[in-house]
Amino acid sequence: MMDLTPKEVKERSALRVNPCKTCQPVGAMFAALGVHGCMPHSHGSQGCCSYHRTVLSRHFKEPAVASSSSFTEGASVFGGRSNITTAAKNIFDIYNPDVIAVHTTCLSETIGDDLASYLMDIDVPQGKVMVHCNTPSYVGSHINGFYNMMMGFMNYLTKKSGTSNEKTAVFPGWVNPGDIRELKRIASLMNVDTTFFPDQSGVLDAPMTGKYVMYPEGGTTLDEIKGLGDCEGLIALGEIIGIEPAELLKKKWKVPYALLPMPIGVTYTDLYISELRKQSKTEVPGELEKERGRLVDLLLDSHQYTYQKKVAIFGDPDVVIGLTSLVLEMGMIPKYVITGTPKEEFTRKINALFDKYGVSDCVAKANKDLFELHQWIKNETVDIMIGSTYGKQIARAEDIPFIRAGFPVLDRYGHPLLPIVGYIGAIRLVEQITNALLDRFDRDVSDENFEIVL
Ligand code: SF4
Repeated sequence: MMDLTPKEVKERSALRVNPCKTCQPVGAMFAALGVHGCMPHSHGSQGCCSYHRTVLSRHFKEPAVASSSSFTEGASVFGGRSNITTAAKNIFDIYNPDVIAVHTTCLSETIGDDLASYLMDIDVPQGKVMVHCNTPSYVGSHINGFYNMMMGFMNYLTKKSGTSNEKTAVFPGWVNPGDIRELKRIASLMNVDTTFFPDQSGVLDAPMTGKYVMYPEGGTTLDEIKGLGDCEGLIALGEIIGIEPAELLKKKWKVPYALLPMPIGVTYTDLYISELRKQSKTEVPGELEKERGRLVDLLLDSHQYTYQKKVAIFGDPDVVIGLTSLVLEMGMIPKYVITGTPKEEFTRKINALFDKYGVSDCVAKANKDLFELHQWIKNETVDIMIGSTYGKQIARAEDIPFIRAGFPVLDRYGHPLLPIVGYIGAIRLVEQITNALLDRFDRDVSDENFEIVL
């Protein structure tokens, strides 16, 4: 007879199987694409650059422009100084960006290329700039690469003129263009003049016009980045991705910041709006109050179908923290919650949510992979999974309904255009989750009860 006793899942520290993360330069490239007129540049071999572009293009269904130092054997041994010098000249001559944002790769980090000194010696054309950051991919994840590139831009460009620009900076974190549009809409309704950095809206969701433009209209401008030091305050969204760039801006230019969770679900969206209210000192408009009311109404209506349903959530730390808060608001049990990014703060945040909502027998872990998640699910299954496309094999093997959210979502269309943040985004998620559970119910229910439900 088959032995169905739950098996112990062994902890591994030196091997990742089906990782729940990708490499640092992907994050650096994504952050750089949120700057207007920017050419992201990968200082390493062409293969790395192709991979990073491919992941971004497959998620956004848009071209992700980037250039490469094209290391071969010579550069790998003697260093890539001549490669980056030649590349900068060619890129400015041929592609004419406002800025080249250089990130390293495993190879250039391993040989110890000193990009800061290489860039100092490059003859950059008048009015153009080059910035760089280090993104060794054998530590951290794409999340680290994302904020490292943000800090690269700030280290090179931010200034303080001594006069406030009366703006509030917003670091939206790793979200889709549809999310950034929603965050901006809320800020605008709250009457707050903002600089979003980075801002991939209008770049990675640029409208089809029939004419190819290498640098679409969107993105944070260089002047806006320079002006970050003159902002009145900063709202950094995502407690894991936002803390380091927020600290840098405070340390360099004394800009005070509020570090908030990603505004997913009722509570976390309330926090974002409450912080905007502090900045603008205006009342919350009726439009937002009504949106909130509609979301709460939907939560109440759908509660009977979501209450006590077990869910596995995986992906990037800040999005996963937001999704966990939302499913707890829906009365669900977040049975397994993991991220591949090695940040223990993530585990503490999720455990605090478990305590707040009084749920027990749930597991939260950082620096984990999807193979391990699969072993846990085999031992004790869940009713639904929420995460990136890389979970689809588990969902299929275990016959579990699956909602795609986070990064990357490679096998579905339209998702980068639609938000998961704000009350509107939460309505979308609650609709998706509830209806996936109802679809499963309809599939499994007996003919007799199917009639009753109808
Ligand atoms: S070699 Fe390093 S930087 Fe290049 S794709 Fe692999 S993990 Fe990423």
